Amino acid sequence: MPNPSLDISLDVTGRRVLVLGGSRPARRVIARYRAAGAIVYLAADTYEVPNPLVRSVAWPQSQAAWRDLVSAVDLVVAVDVPPSAAAALETACTEKSVWLTRAAAAPVARPGHVTLVGGGPGDDDLLTVAALSALAGADIVYYDRLGPHDRLDEWAPGAEQVNVGKLPGHHAVPQVEIERMLVASALAGLTVVRLKGGDPFVFGRGGEEMAACRAAGVPVTVISGVTSAIAVPALAGIPVTHRELSKLFTVLSGHVPLSEEELAHLVGLGGTIVVLMGVGTLPHLASGLARHGMRADMPVAIIERGFSAHQRTTVAAIDTVVRVAGEVGARSPAVLVIGDVVRLAQQDDATAVAVLANAATLSGQR
Ligand code: SAH
Repeated sequence: MPNPSLDISLDVTGRRVLVLGGSRPARRVIARYRAAGAIVYLAADTYEVPNPLVRSVAWPQSQAAWRDLVSAVDLVVAVDVPPSAAAALETACTEKSVWLTRAAAAPVARPGHVTLVGGGPGDDDLLTVAALSALAGADIVYYDRLGPHDRLDEWAPGAEQVNVGKLPGHHAVPQVEIERMLVASALAGLTVVRLKGGDPFVFGRGGEEMAACRAAGVPVTVISGVTSAIAVPALAGIPVTHRELSKLFTVLSGHVPLSEEELAHLVGLGGTIVVLMGVGTLPHLASGLARHGMRADMPVAIIERGFSAHQRTTVAAIDTVVRVAGEVGARSPAVLVIGDVVRLAQQDDATAVAVLANAATLSGQR
C-alpha cells in the first residue's frame, strides 16, 4: 500500500504514466503529469468521451490483462479504481515491480462554472490576486493573444490550456465558437476560466460571453482587470484626468469610424479622448475632430505595444498626427490619447511644467 506520509518527487519526463479513473475526476492528475513531461495513458472502467490529451487504453478484464498493462508503463496512478479491481491491480504491480501511487479525484460539479478574468494589459504584475486565484483553481483556461499567458503552466498547473486566439491553421476561433466551448466545458462539470486582455468588459466581448453562459444556465462571474485604456497612457506618463486640465475621459473603439454626429458630440464634450483599436481609423478621427472644431494644436499620443520591450510613444498635434503616424509606421496594438493631458508626459513642455506647478499650488491650498 502507498504510504501517505511519504512526499517524494520523481522526474517523470518522457516516462509512461498510467492513470486509472475517469478523465473528469482524473483531470487534474492528468494535467499535472502532462505538465511534468510524462506520456499519460488513461484507463477507465466506465465509458469515456475520447480525451485528446491522453492515450486511452482498455480497462483490463483479467489478472493477466492487468499484468500486461502495468508492465508496459513506468508508474501507475490510481485515481478511481473500483474495489472489485483493486486486488488485481496491486498484485500485478507487485509482480511486475511497477510503482503504484494514489491521487485524489477532483470534484465533478454539474454544471461547472465560468469565470471571465481580466488579465490586464500584458504585464504579469498587473494580474490581480483574484485573477491568479481563479487560474489556480481552473480545470481549463481559454486564452488569447492579448491576455498574459506565458506563465499559464505556473498559474494554472492543473488546467488544460486552449488558445482561442488561433487554431492550428492560424485563424482566430470565431466568437460564437468560443462561447459554445465555454458553455460545453462548464456543462461537462469543469471549472472554466476565460482569460482576456485588459478588462473583460472594455471592448473584450465579455458581455456576450456572459450572456451565452446565462442563456445556457451556466453560472458565470467576472473578475475585472486593469484596462489598457488607463494603464497604457499611464505607462507613458499620461494621466487620463488631471485637476484643472481634464475632468472626464471618453473611451472609444476605433474599430468602426464615428458618425458626424458622434464626432460633433465628442468635440463638444471636451476632456480626454482615449481610443482603442484606433490606428486604422486615425485619419478619419483626426480630420473629423478638426472639422468639428477641435483646436489644431491639440496634442495626441500614440502608445504602441505598451508593457512590452518594444513599447513606443509618439506625440504630435491633431493636425499633424496622421503624417507623423505614417512617418514612424505606427501599428496596432496601440492606445491613442487626445487631450491636453498628453502634455504632462512631455517633461520639457512649458505648458506641462506650468500646469503641474499650478496643480501643486492648488493642492497645497486645500
Ligand atoms: N479589453 C481590453 C481591450 C481589448 S481591445 C482592455 O481593457 O484593455 C484591444 C485593443 O486594446 C488594442 O487594439 C489596443 O488598442 C488596446 N491594447 C490592449 N493592450 C494593449 C497594450 N499592451 N499596448 C497598447 N494597446 C493595447
